[in-house]
Amino acid sequence: MVATSSPTDLTIIDNIRFITNRHVELVVATAAQIAEAIDKYYNIQETSPVDALIGEMGNVDATVAEDEQSEESVIVQPDSKMITFVNQILIDAYKKGASDIHFEPGMGKEPFTIRYRVDGECYVAHRIDSSHKAAIISRLKIISDLDIAERRRPQSGKIMLRYEGRKIEYRLEVTPTVGNQEDAVLRILAASKPLSLDAMGFSSSNLAKFREILAKPYGIVLCVGPTGSGKTTSLHSALGHINTPVRKIWTAEDPVEITQRGLRQVQVHPKIGFNFADALRSFLRSDPDVIMIGEMRDPETAQIAIEASLTGHLVFSTLHTNSAPETVVRLIEMGMDPYNFSDALLGILAQRLARKLCEHCKKPYHPDREEYDELIHGYGKEWFAVHNMTDFLPELSFMKKEGCEKCGGTGYKGRIAFHELLIGTKTVKDAIKKNIGAEQLRSLAIEEGMRTLRMDGIMKVFRGITDYEQVNKVCL
Ligand SMILES: [Zn+2]
Repeated sequence: MVATSSPTDLTIIDNIRFITNRHVELVVATAAQIAEAIDKYYNIQETSPVDALIGEMGNVDATVAEDEQSEESVIVQPDSKMITFVNQILIDAYKKGASDIHFEPGMGKEPFTIRYRVDGECYVAHRIDSSHKAAIISRLKIISDLDIAERRRPQSGKIMLRYEGRKIEYRLEVTPTVGNQEDAVLRILAASKPLSLDAMGFSSSNLAKFREILAKPYGIVLCVGPTGSGKTTSLHSALGHINTPVRKIWTAEDPVEITQRGLRQVQVHPKIGFNFADALRSFLRSDPDVIMIGEMRDPETAQIAIEASLTGHLVFSTLHTNSAPETVVRLIEMGMDPYNFSDALLGILAQRLARKLCEHCKKPYHPDREEYDELIHGYGKEWFAVHNMTDFLPELSFMKKEGCEKCGGTGYKGRIAFHELLIGTKTVKDAIKKNIGAEQLRSLAIEEGMRTLRMDGIMKVFRGITDYEQVNKVCL
């Protein structure tokens, strides 16, 4: 029995009969269904260049022998195969959406492991025979201009690569590890384009409020959260939203990860003494309308940024704080004047990235009462009703992870942001002037319409975008 998408073409049946010498029956299916079935049952996949190279380099020795000789080895010059291999790894990781590549030599003859971090979690991408470890690390050092003879001290470098017309930058850190080994970790900084505000995963009320503060002529907007919570992406989306030829927009970043036409972007170099505060001062003499400062690392930068926002400029920056209310307290502790800061404040956006349930395999289910009650408890019982959250109805349905080929069996694919947007309303500003504590400010802000990170996460569980496990993982 043969499926075809062109049942009227009689030559097909004739040819197959002739070739196979069998009786053939035709059934009709769409071309897409046929392609999918071939994919599923015959698993015809192109062997990636990396896998092919690993094949050529010899099999990974699975039986690990105790290492008899010392690892005080001579410097290995990589051959041409190794050069190609390292290049292929750099591209392979980029194509798979990795943010970091970890090169980890094993002890003795244990395989050399290469792990990729994708969507915030690491997984083993390749295992290579241990005989290649010295050559791989040497190659990485050579292309990033490091000293290949230095094997006892950490070194940092940079690799630039062009691939399909895009410039990809890799920040390399080589660290000596136990057993005379060296580990290398590469962070991938792909020159990417900003996402539109609509694509940021904002709830509709947060999106409306965020748009509103971006329409103001001056003031300060802060985006806060730990490293890797997508702060820079959010700020660039915000800048993209107001990026028109009528405004002069300056940015100081470290590193510049996203580029936008129209912005004047500056890479600061703290090593040569060119820091955020210097960039800010220079911008203020360069007729700015909007200024983005990558991070308010020190009181001096924070001070100038706040003053700039009070003198008619729209200022954006980030801080490493956990929540929006905590940010206010931190800035005052850093020595900022509560009056100045509250006058300047437009809004603070705290953010986290959680893993999204895989669109291809997630399954709807009806939660039991206990699970539902846990969510209400997490949300805050007093607010659950006020915010018109869904009652425990028979048709209530959540989504759960399943696992398929597309998500590597994990049940998650891609990420969704949780937001906590504190707006500088009159009540909030007055409270800041009175030196209110973080906990009180949080309650006050919720009364003023703020949803906490956890509330926003739970709303996204109700919408079937993620699960409660993820909310608990990213919201403390
Ligand atoms: Zn899946």
